[in-house]
Amino acid sequence: MIRKLLVKNVVLKGNSCDILINGNIIEKIESTINEDNAEIFDGQGMVVMPGFVNAHTHAAMTLTRGVCEDTPLQPWLQNVWAIEAKMDGDAIYWGTKLAIVEMLKSGTTNFNDMYWFIPRAYQAAEEMGIRATYTYVLLNGFDKAKAEAQKKECLDILDQSRSWNQRVKYGIAIHADYTVDEDTMVWGAELARKEGLILHTHIAETSTETFSEVEKSGLTPVQHYDKLGVLGDNVIAAHCVWLNEDDIAILGKHHVNVVHNVNSNLKLSSGYKFKYDELIAAGANVCLGTDGASSSNNLDMRESAKTMALLQKAWRNDPATMHLDDVMAVLSKNGSKALGVNAGEIAVGKLADIIFIDTDTEAFVPNYNFESNFIYAANSSCIKHVMVDGKFVMKDRHVDGEEEIRAKAREISSKLINA
Ligand SMILES: [Zn+2]
Repeated sequence: MIRKLLVKNVVLKGNSCDILINGNIIEKIESTINEDNAEIFDGQGMVVMPGFVNAHTHAAMTLTRGVCEDTPLQPWLQNVWAIEAKMDGDAIYWGTKLAIVEMLKSGTTNFNDMYWFIPRAYQAAEEMGIRATYTYVLLNGFDKAKAEAQKKECLDILDQSRSWNQRVKYGIAIHADYTVDEDTMVWGAELARKEGLILHTHIAETSTETFSEVEKSGLTPVQHYDKLGVLGDNVIAAHCVWLNEDDIAILGKHHVNVVHNVNSNLKLSSGYKFKYDELIAAGANVCLGTDGASSSNNLDMRESAKTMALLQKAWRNDPATMHLDDVMAVLSKNGSKALGVNAGEIAVGKLADIIFIDTDTEAFVPNYNFESNFIYAANSSCIKHVMVDGKFVMKDRHVDGEEEIRAKAREISSKLINA
């Protein structure tokens, strides 16, 4: 029999209500619901919001948090790559688990990952109850043998993924067009299209990468992807900081999902004039991501949303831009759309990915505008419970097994740094 859960006494968009969840789906939202045969959970007047979607991250990079600070991009990359080269399946498993604890505690219920050892990373999400998409990284440095080996492994994991838990999806990633040959880019895009998978990639992250490409081929990275026929509404393109008008029109025409990774871009001095308004007007779907913890240091989407809003207002010299409604959509709804998941809103018929906010703290007094308090005044410690797929995965700010996860991650990261 499908389990029913009745969440009593919560606040949704300013109104008190009860929410009935049938299995993993929201069945009813009314001011008062009485239902026999349902387990009852008392929400104690907490505010409910849809869980956040981290649309671009490298989860297990939590193990490289803070290893190289205040250095230029090139030495930073060398440092991170040297540590990554030593990571094995166990490191990925525990590093991903550490990321999941952190994500749940900051309200993320779904993430889009691009990293290595996918079967072990899958195990982490499967065990911890979070929703995820794991994208296989095609990254060959123009080496033919490597390209073939990766294609084979990518297809092997695709086969394995057919028996995965429905909460976790498989996808394809083209690392970037300056690290992958054109044949492989087209191969990955065609496979993703044929199998109905997400195609995840990095585009136009830095000015050096973007303008050296223009100098070499006469095409911008976006024009290059377009020429190869790679772009479509299944594409999730991280960064896109260096775009011209034509690039924005191309991304809009193909309804590409563009992910703003604001804290990473700021910290690595990649660029900051992200064209939110222009991309939306052109028809693109704009989402938010944290990127890996090596560059953004944490995986806190609320904090990223605050930085994004402040920065849009600052560089455009316009305090009226980036309305709170847009900020909330970027946090949940747009990312769910990008990942093809029927969530991102608390509404009847949607998946029950819900976070519960305790407003009994100074940040919510006075509470003239809840969303403003949540984004600009609070921090993520106000997130008390997290539900994914109709089940609680964090209660009273505790995630099952978190103590062991921190201990293992400490042990593994110290080996990686000192080895
Ligand atoms: Zn990235």
